[in-house]
Amino acid sequence: MLTPVPPVTPASVVRPFAGAAQDWLPAHRGTDLAARPGQAVVAPLTGRVVFVGTIAGRPVVSIRTPIARFTLEPVSAKDVDGRWVRTGQVIGRVAEGGHCDRLCLHWGAKVNGRYVDPMTFVNRRAPVLKPLQAATTRSEPGARAGPAAPCCGSGSRDSP
Ligand SMILES: [Zn+2]
Repeated sequence: MLTPVPPVTPASVVRPFAGAAQDWLPAHRGTDLAARPGQAVVAPLTGRVVFVGTIAGRPVVSIRTPIARFTLEPVSAKDVDGRWVRTGQVIGRVAEGGHCDRLCLHWGAKVNGRYVDPMTFVNRRAPVLKPLQAATTRSEPGARAGPAAPCCGSGSRDSP
């Protein structure tokens, strides 16, 4: 099972990933999920904890998994350094420090040396929802009556 789970639940994104074209440019190399100090943090995926420590004053945990190296901060973790952890296993607690201080958990993912948006892994499940949404729309006759309904769609409108 190589589908990661969010390290905190509910997974409410308070600041999305914003990559940069070049590594030295300013960017937000991860996704911030709403979290409070003391909240449980779980391993997004089975892997090995390869780093537990402090980087620039922020307590950081890194887990190497088959699909990415995940970094979580601020997290205070004990007794997991060097250990194998399973998907969903509690590895520590949300701590304080960094740009997420007391508000969120920063979740970073690195694949082949490049930072990617970790939510893309979680959102792989999204396509499963599409038939359900279509069915819901069909069952609402009122929704068909309005020809405009300019809102919200599948984004196909953006296609060239
Ligand atoms: Zn962040």
